[in-house]
Formats: sequence, C-alpha cells, structure tokens
Amino acid sequence: MITEEKKEEKSLNFIEEIIEADLQAGKYKEIVTRFPPEPNGYLHIGHASSICLNFGLTKKFPGYTNLRFDDTNPTTEDTEYVESIKNDIRWMGFEWQNELYASDYFDTLYDYAVRLIQMNLAYVDDSTSEEIATLKGTPTEPGKDSPFRDRTIEENLALFEQMKNGDFPDGSHTLRAKIDMAHQNMLMRDPILYRIKHAHHHRTGNKWCIYPMYDFAHGQSDSIENITHSLCTMEFIPHRELYDWLIAKLEIYPSHQYEFARRNLNYTVTSKRKLLQLVQDGHVNGWDDPRMPTISGLRRRGYTPASIREFCDRIGVARRENMIDVGLLEFCVREDLNKTSLRRMVVLDPLKLVITNFPEDLSETCITENNPEDIATGMREILFTKEIFIEREDFMEVPSKKYFRLAPGKMVRLKGAYIIQADSLVKDENGEVTEVHCTYVENSKSGQDTTGINVKGTLHWVSAKHGVPVEVRLYDRLFSVENVGSEEGDFKDYMNPESLHIITGYAEPSLAEAKPGESFQFLRKGYFAADPDGTTEKPVFNRTVTLRDNWAKAGEK
Ligand code: ATP
Ligand code: MG
Repeated sequence: MITEEKKEEKSLNFIEEIIEADLQAGKYKEIVTRFPPEPNGYLHIGHASSICLNFGLTKKFPGYTNLRFDDTNPTTEDTEYVESIKNDIRWMGFEWQNELYASDYFDTLYDYAVRLIQMNLAYVDDSTSEEIATLKGTPTEPGKDSPFRDRTIEENLALFEQMKNGDFPDGSHTLRAKIDMAHQNMLMRDPILYRIKHAHHHRTGNKWCIYPMYDFAHGQSDSIENITHSLCTMEFIPHRELYDWLIAKLEIYPSHQYEFARRNLNYTVTSKRKLLQLVQDGHVNGWDDPRMPTISGLRRRGYTPASIREFCDRIGVARRENMIDVGLLEFCVREDLNKTSLRRMVVLDPLKLVITNFPEDLSETCITENNPEDIATGMREILFTKEIFIEREDFMEVPSKKYFRLAPGKMVRLKGAYIIQADSLVKDENGEVTEVHCTYVENSKSGQDTTGINVKGTLHWVSAKHGVPVEVRLYDRLFSVENVGSEEGDFKDYMNPESLHIITGYAEPSLAEAKPGESFQFLRKGYFAADPDGTTEKPVFNRTVTLRDNWAKAGEK
C-alpha cells in the first residue's frame, strides 16, 4: 500500500528509477546524458522523444546533457542538417552544455584502434565485404576465421597506417576486432571497426580516408565525454555487448548503455532515410512541409514546443515498441492552442448574405472577445456591413430537424453582431444558391440585446466589404495506411494523394498583419498558423488541426 502510494507520487519511468538508484548508491554525484543525432537529415517526432528524455533527465536530476553530432559517416552528412538540428532543439526549449562532434575524436579513436592492435585485439582484413559476410555464419551456425586473422601485430600496425595514409582503395581493407567468430552474438564475430572511404567530411575535410564504424565511435565518444547514462533505442540491445567489450579492453571511462523503445507515429514514417526520399523525389515541399513529421514541419504547421513536449511526456518511455496514434499529438496541440491562440473569424467556403434592412454605406463596429479562455487578451472590433459572407454549410434550403443554423424563415445569431432571419434566396441557372437575403433584428446586437429572442445557432461571418482573401492550406494525413512500415513494396505507394488541399477564404482584415508562425483559432473551423509564404496582400495560413477529431468520426461511420 505504502509503496504503491510512493510510486504514484514520484511516478518515475524505468530509466529515472535506474538513475535515482545510482545517485542514492553514490555511484555518481551528477549524471551526464547526451543527445546524439547523426546530421544526415532533419529531426522528426521520434527524435523529439529522445530529446525530451535526455534533456528532461538532467532537468530532474543533477547533471547536464551534451549535444553530440554522430558524424562518422562522411557521405550522408551536411552542415545544413547540423544547423537545423540545433535550431530544432532550442525551439523545443532545451539547451545543451557542450556542442560536440564525434569527428573531433577521430585522432583519439585512431589511437584507440592502434592500442587494440597492440593488444592483439584487432587486425587488418583484406577480405571483401562479400567474403566477410560469407564467413560470418548465421545465428545458428558459427562463422569461420578470416585467412588474415593471424597477422602479426607489426604487420597489422603497418597495414593500418597504410590504410590511414590512403594507400588503399575503398573496400579493399577493414580493421576488425579480434573477438570470436563463433560467438552467439553475431555482432561479436570480429566486428568491423574501421573502413576505407575516400570521401570529403563536412568538418574534417580530406584529412581522413578511414572512418570508424558506429560501434567503434559511439561508446568511445560516450566514454570520452564521461557520459554516465547513454540512452538509445531497443535495436541497439545486441550492440551493448560490444559497447562494453570495447570500453573494458580499452580501459576507458565506463559509460553504460540503456535502451528504450523507438516511438512510431501512425499514418507517417519516422525514418530520416525515408523522409529524405520524400524531399528528394518532390513528394513534399521540403523538410519543413507542414505535412512532414519533422520538428520543422510541425513548427510550420503551427505546433507549439509545449504541445510536443506534452505529447512526449504523455507517451513516456517504454521498453516495448508500439505505434502512437497521431490523434494524441493533435489532442496535445489543441489543448495548448485553445489556451493561447487568439480567435478570429474566417469563412472558408463563402456564401453571400444581403441584410436587406441594413443601410448600404454603414460599417457598424461590433465588439467581440479575442480569447474567452484568457480574458487578459481583451476585445477586438469587427465591422458589420450590409453584405457579409457565412460558411456555405451554415445554410440549408430544406433543413433537417436538428439543423440549428440558417434556413429560410429561421433565425441565427451572427457572432458578436445581430440576430438575423433568412427571407429569400437567389439561385443561379444550376439551381445553386448564390445569395441569401436576410433581415436583421433591431436591438439584438450582442451585449445589448433587449429582444429576448433565443436562438440556438451562432455563426461566424466576415464583412464582404472589409474581408480579405487568404490562402488556406488544409492538410490531411501524408499516408493513407496506419502502419506504413508494415506494408509491402515501396512505402511511397501508400501516400495519401489528398494530403494537401488549397482554398481561398475570407478573413477579418487584421489577419493580413499576422506574422509567420502566429497561431489563431478560426472560429468553429480549427487552429491555423500563418505561413512564411504569406504576404500582406496574400496571407497564407496552414491548418494545424481541426477543432475536433473529424477523422475518428469518419472512421466510425
Ligand atoms: P533515423 O532512422 O530516423 O535516422 P536514427 O536513430 O538513425 O533514426 P539518429 O540521428 O541516429 O537517428 O538518432 C538520434 C537519437 O534519437 C538516437 O539516440 C536515437 O535512438 C533517437 N531516436 C531516433 N528515432 C527515434 C524514435 N523514432 N523514437 C525514439 N528515439 C529515436
Ligand atoms: Mg542513425
């Protein structure tokens, strides 16, 4: 009973429990974590989980977090990615203690490799990658020793130096750890530590033509930085044995690796490699396309840092992989924007109303609230005129029983303005309603209503005279299947062809002044963020999310 209460009170995740135990046992005075992206793409929502976890731990416990670029693969990496990653982490609300690069450790890593050779724990192999693969065995069959495994230490030292000096072409030699070709763990069967790659590196230029493999850089970088708790995703569990072996043999700082489950979001892909394909093949308009699950895409879409942190918090850390419903991410941004965004009226699919008993030239000032959830945001003025737009779906010529919006002979309130009644229709040759003629009820103005009339529906509207046209980009899921990764064939075949829909709406004039990134609730329509493509003449808005979850409802039908 008591223990349960305690747990509830603290509600630590399993990694926090490990850290707390380590601190209590006096193993560390402070902890050091790191976020280790490979700068080969933009960060996505999965990375956000890792960022919140690593930086969150050192907010909760004494210590700090490093940002380490795991830049050991010269061909896929770029400084553009480095800059975007830094920008995204800061935007998420976190700051690192040190900005570090695995490539800064290339000299040290080279020395470590020499040390292993000197201990007869590494050798240069002339086998091709196919030959190495063939000799590797299978999970049920032991591998076979390479014919180059028993080279002398001197020979290995000389060959490794030649590798470094550029005497050999790509793929002709590797440096391998000498462990055990019959090891149960395939990764321990003489793993490759270095490969030759005559390639320009975004930081070290042409200094190196040999590059360390992930397994011979990651743990060593952790150790060099005195990382206490090195957190990675579950697929690295089999690597932990090698991580520990290398640290033990080299007798360097004993960092420890802990694994947590990768986070996947449904209806999208969270793999930089796949996201890069979408960008390169032009399926989206760049890494920050608002449909992308990248942090930069979410930001442009109108997501707030708080909503992404809340999402990561709610999904927490787990040991088992699972698919997270994008609905939860949408819920988090709705909650946040409901509190913070100003309300504005925008008609997305206009139908013209003519208020026949309203003076032709009058623009009457109406007052309405900016955000009922935050009265400190005050009120704003909007102008009411003889001709206004309402949403086409807010009028029905033959209304159903529960339709409380506008219909012939029916009354509704116009938000912040008058009660009106629909009197007659104007139709075009196709029978489509082009105008509705209405009358407004005198003395029914919002806040000064003395009529005692009760209406059930309140509609948003925009003055036809003062409204400004705005481009509105409506987004839907990027993929039409839930678990993209589990589908056969090319993942791009499952893209939703209807993921972007562009329309022109009519907005309150103040929206022409919206600054890129600014978020608004378009009354009754959802949350929208101003896009940097917009200008004062032609503002552009991205729909962040609808007010309610329409997708789930459509699924129920
Ligand atoms: P990707 O396949 O998208 O390239 P990655 O793991 O190769 O992913 P890195 O740049 O190496 O990307 O990742 C940096 C950190 O973020 C690592 O610690 C990694 O474990 C973590 N990470 C990456 N993707 C996810 C995810 N989907 N969920 C949780 N953590 C993730
Ligand atoms: Mg990676």
